[in-house]
Amino acid sequence: MCGIVGYFGKNKALPILLEGLERLEYRGYDSAGIVVYCGEKMKSLKSVGRVSSLKEKVIKEDLISGKVGIAHTRWATHGKPSEKNAHPHCDCKRKIWVCHNGIIENYKILKKWLIERGHKFRSETDTEVIPHLIEEYFQGNLENALVKALKKIEGTYAIVAISEKDPNKIVAAKNSSPLIIGIGDKEFIVASDASAILSYTKKVVYLNDKEVAVMNADGIKFLDLFKKSLSKKTHILNWDLSSAQKSGYPHFMLKEIFEQPESIANSLRGRLINKEGITKLGGLDNVRKKMANIKRILISSCGTAFYAGLVGEYLIEEKTGIPVEVDLASEFRYRKPIIDKHTAFLIVSQSGETADSLAALKEAKEKGALTLGIVNTVGSTISRETDAGIYNHAGPEISVASTKAFTSQLSIFILLTLFLARQRQMSLIEGKEIINSLKKIPAKVKQILKNISQIKRIAKKYKKFNNFFFMGRKYNYPVALEGALKLKEISYIHAEGYSAGEMKHGPIALIDKNFPSVFIVTENSVYEKVVSNMEEVKARGGPIIAITNIGNKKLDKIADDVIYVPKTIEILEPILNVVPLQLLAYYIGVMRGRDVDKPRNLAKSVTVE
Ligand code: GLU
Repeated sequence: MCGIVGYFGKNKALPILLEGLERLEYRGYDSAGIVVYCGEKMKSLKSVGRVSSLKEKVIKEDLISGKVGIAHTRWATHGKPSEKNAHPHCDCKRKIWVCHNGIIENYKILKKWLIERGHKFRSETDTEVIPHLIEEYFQGNLENALVKALKKIEGTYAIVAISEKDPNKIVAAKNSSPLIIGIGDKEFIVASDASAILSYTKKVVYLNDKEVAVMNADGIKFLDLFKKSLSKKTHILNWDLSSAQKSGYPHFMLKEIFEQPESIANSLRGRLINKEGITKLGGLDNVRKKMANIKRILISSCGTAFYAGLVGEYLIEEKTGIPVEVDLASEFRYRKPIIDKHTAFLIVSQSGETADSLAALKEAKEKGALTLGIVNTVGSTISRETDAGIYNHAGPEISVASTKAFTSQLSIFILLTLFLARQRQMSLIEGKEIINSLKKIPAKVKQILKNISQIKRIAKKYKKFNNFFFMGRKYNYPVALEGALKLKEISYIHAEGYSAGEMKHGPIALIDKNFPSVFIVTENSVYEKVVSNMEEVKARGGPIIAITNIGNKKLDKIADDVIYVPKTIEILEPILNVVPLQLLAYYIGVMRGRDVDKPRNLAKSVTVE
């Protein structure tokens, strides 16, 4: 999920690797490391924090001579950020070194098997099984051993590896995590992101999933996992550094919106057990029994995460029967919250550092609640301070306005709900049905993302308005709140989210031809009710944009514009329905000339009260 750079060639590897790491810094990371093959020996260094502190160590160690090396910036998923867990990782004899981005889902089983075979592990990471597997299969040739190791691995990876047992060579492989190979004159630079390659060469090869590349003095060759050789096209990059960092997208926000099929899949990866209709959540293992006895759940969070919490409230109450209350973290500590030992207190936070959420957590802890977290940043304060939790695995989010973190929070709420519900009354059949529908969500998000031209057209038509309502009911009420927040955050347009049923109790007074409303009106248990609310707005001359399901032509007469999304079960609708709202906000923001990645007055992680 974070940064990889590898170099093989005629120049000193070190400065190229360090420059590459610096170019990848924009992604955010928690630690960095490097290993260079310096004639007969591997020299490695790691440090927690910035690449600059790694650089300082490198200067002291004089690690300068080698011409083959690999380096990494880590964004922890398994094991806290620490020097011990920083990449590159190595085998028992410190001869095979690997940098990895992604998640090895079956690492626990592999680690157990390797330990039984005598391997000694030094870190808590999932990654470390890779060098040990390569060691296990090594018979004189690095790529052959890597191919065998990859056949054992389940999960996502971009890998670069070097070995002093088969030196003067660098090997790389990928599955679902990006990896690009820059081709110079008898030299190669491999990276997870074009920005680390650009200043060096513009000639690149994109590695596809389950492909392996081998680079040495003879050139580069490509293999599949059956060792069949492949021929691959080279491409010329005509990006500048800033578009390379955004993978060619004009803004991080748009890039992150488009990453959602992948980030949602990552949040579910390895956690669904279809045949038992349950979810496997390693982070809750130590509180499994306590979870079975929970009588009440308090959810506390801020901003977008608060809206995810509201969806969680509907979900958990409907499927588990456990009473749930959601509170803004900034309010929670100033109330007198009622908490007993059967209360679970759940914090939702992308950064895991939000000051208001931390203060609420402290309050709940003092009152004796079981504390839980849904957090994207591994090793963050909230993840450390809670009794147990579930990581989002959405990858780093750079745009200030949250998009992929929100949809991953929603996915995690489904996982948590299934976990709790199957401990209680939910049937096997229902558990399986939810899992089946959940698995189809990433493809459905992809389908929505194909529709940007229509959303752009609608954005163009509505960008001139200075006020908007967003409305939905039940599961789509928090989606309406999130849609309004997105629009106000990045376009500075006044936007309010309401439950569509609340409209007639006041807000409808504002409706006229200059006040458009966005209705989330997918075909669910409250569909007819929302249609009636739309009619009320229509009767008062308010322009309407409706989000409904593909094939539903009934709204054409009421709404001025209709955006269609694929159908899913009601509890999963928020994950799909928020996507067009993110895009609408994005395009209106861009068309109004706003700095959408860095909206005025806002910070990514709010660490003050
Ligand atoms: N899962 C690996 C770890 O936690 C890789 C993380 C990354 O992609 O940076 O070390």
